[in-house]
Amino acid sequence: MINLTLEDIRYESRFVSRIERRDQPKRLAAAVMMIGICLWSGQVTETVYIFSAIGFSELLSIWIGKRFPKRDDHIPIWLIGILWCNNLFSTVAYLLPTLLLSSQPSLALFIAGFLWMCGSLVHIANTFAFLPFFNFSMMTPALLVAFGVLFQLANNTFGVAPTHHWIATAGLLIVYVFNALETLKKQKDTHKQLRNARRESNAQLRKLEYMTQHDGLTGLLNRWAFEEMLQNMIVRSDTESRVAVFILDLDGFKPINDTYTHEAGDHVLRTISTRLQKVIANTGITARLGGDEFAIALSDQNSEDALLKLAHRVAKTIAEPILVKGRELRLTASVGISMSTGIDDSIASLSANADHAMFKAKSARDGQAVMYDPDLFSPRPSLEDRRTLRIAMENLDIMPYYQPKVDIKTGRICGFEALARWEHLERGLLMPGAFLPQVAELSLHGELLALIAETVFSDLEYLLEAGLDPGQVSINVPEVSLATSNGRQELSDILMRYPSILGHVTFEITEDVFIARASETIQESIGHFRANGVRISLDDFGTGFASFQHLRQLDFDELKIDSSFVAALGTEEAADVLVEGFLSIAQGLGVDAIAEGVETAQQEQQLLGMGCTNVQGFLYGRAMPLAETRILLEAEKLRFPMMRQTKVSQTMHSHNRDHIDFKGSKAS
Ligand code: C2E
Ligand code: CA
Ligand code: CA
Repeated sequence: MINLTLEDIRYESRFVSRIERRDQPKRLAAAVMMIGICLWSGQVTETVYIFSAIGFSELLSIWIGKRFPKRDDHIPIWLIGILWCNNLFSTVAYLLPTLLLSSQPSLALFIAGFLWMCGSLVHIANTFAFLPFFNFSMMTPALLVAFGVLFQLANNTFGVAPTHHWIATAGLLIVYVFNALETLKKQKDTHKQLRNARRESNAQLRKLEYMTQHDGLTGLLNRWAFEEMLQNMIVRSDTESRVAVFILDLDGFKPINDTYTHEAGDHVLRTISTRLQKVIANTGITARLGGDEFAIALSDQNSEDALLKLAHRVAKTIAEPILVKGRELRLTASVGISMSTGIDDSIASLSANADHAMFKAKSARDGQAVMYDPDLFSPRPSLEDRRTLRIAMENLDIMPYYQPKVDIKTGRICGFEALARWEHLERGLLMPGAFLPQVAELSLHGELLALIAETVFSDLEYLLEAGLDPGQVSINVPEVSLATSNGRQELSDILMRYPSILGHVTFEITEDVFIARASETIQESIGHFRANGVRISLDDFGTGFASFQHLRQLDFDELKIDSSFVAALGTEEAADVLVEGFLSIAQGLGVDAIAEGVETAQQEQQLLGMGCTNVQGFLYGRAMPLAETRILLEAEKLRFPMMRQTKVSQTMHSHNRDHIDFKGSKAS
């Protein structure tokens, strides 16, 4: 079966519109000839009607052609609708002479009409064979007219036809042969154009993917791509064949940047990257994590000695002089190494350990490379830490704070993101960065989610009962909670206790759901919650997809553009291209987009210009406690007294998005 996507239809529309204009002179010439034959047969009034219809559809076709925007994803649906209807209408109009001629009591005219119909059918079938959406709009009326002709044949008695009728028929036969040959030639051309456009947009998609995975300056992997590949290595590792992570930090890089120019700094970073790549080659992956920090990951390792040797080689190649403006500069690097254990490894623990070791290397007088050794470094969280965390949760010291999301077109608050905060008695207000790693390490994320969900839902109920409109409130749901049916059930039970808030809840999930081994269960969980009116937002979008093609596997309602892209808007060209790319992916998939981390009016203006209206960031407010949230909403109510419609997941509306696809994803 043909699986047509909205994007396919947009493609087809552009081509159909182009083909129609391309073939217009030929069509009009044929129409003039047909006017002649019809008038000759004596049917003046009908002829005038038919050719007014043809004229109208041709004028409409010109008008439609002029309305087509440059980019496929900007083609409005209504325009496609008009194009489709006009195709149907013009097919009928062009075939009416067939019905007119075949109803005459002259066998020659009947044959002329019949030939005209065959010519039209050949033209349609050949030109539109690769444009199934429009093929349908044209073949259907064509076949109906064919039926009409056969019906006339059965009911008509033909007298002797005069010679001039036969001359007209013979003339038409010649035109018919010519037309068939011509159409065949153009059909190849149509097909070629279609293929080229597909190839182009696929290449664009690959370019976008490359840009999200690589560091623009050095061409090495960026942090996200590195972590993703590291995760794959960890999954495949065991106690025998282990994964090693090197974290490298340059010593003395900052002065170069300050003393010389930024170009000199860039040159140094590029030179070092090239050298690193040479040493590591195909034995592992190399990334620039940011600034002057690099990382290397290697699989199938089992000898600490071999790793230390490699680390020294890496340090040595970095220490070779670099020529900058005629001067030889020398830098050194500190290297920290960590190895997986085969039990309970994670990106976070491997990186943290390598980081630890790197700092040891920096402070050691003689060492350039240090291997992480758990005995030498600070211990993991203890039972005591577990108790403290548990008590903090029970006492509700850990609570959601709410950061507003804003529609910049109207200036109106469109929702909030609930962010965990620990109101610590001694240490003050703690951000998630300070306690989430411990929560994860102690496997308390289930408890944390239950606490946050329960509190957020009851806060939402409270705000709604107070007649306030909080919009869409999102909570961060870690992928582990969706990966088991127990986790799903627990969250679902909490949700079901608050029926009044449905339609106001969004779950933010990250691309970890794609890496996770239990991705099937996760997808089921997502389906379950969407069916219950929860919207799904893909958090930190752009930072970690192995491939955008993955997106098709998941049903979701919103895509949240990561703050790292927003921060680079206007300063890095790549960021502008990427954000536009993400917005067009969202549009192609038919989902909403929101940008996070908006801090400046300039970023706001740029996003608005790109058509992104939903945003979140310090520019509009930081996460605040419930009481402040309520005050904010009360002020908002005075500004906008009308309640707004709530958004629900598309599944809830039983919209099936399965068929919606983004550019080129299906092309071969
Ligand atoms: P996230 O989901 O990406 O959340 C957005 C983070 O960006 C928040 O940091 C927010 O305070 C910060 N942010 C918002 N606007 C701006 C801005 O304009 N500029 C900058 N520089 N930052 C901005 P926060 O609250 O520290 O949270 C960090 C991460 O911790 C979150 O990242 C999320 O992944 C996680 N997290 C927060 N609350 C929860 C929770 O309840 N459960 C779970 N599992 N994770 C949570
Ligand atoms: Ca989030
Ligand atoms: Ca985020």
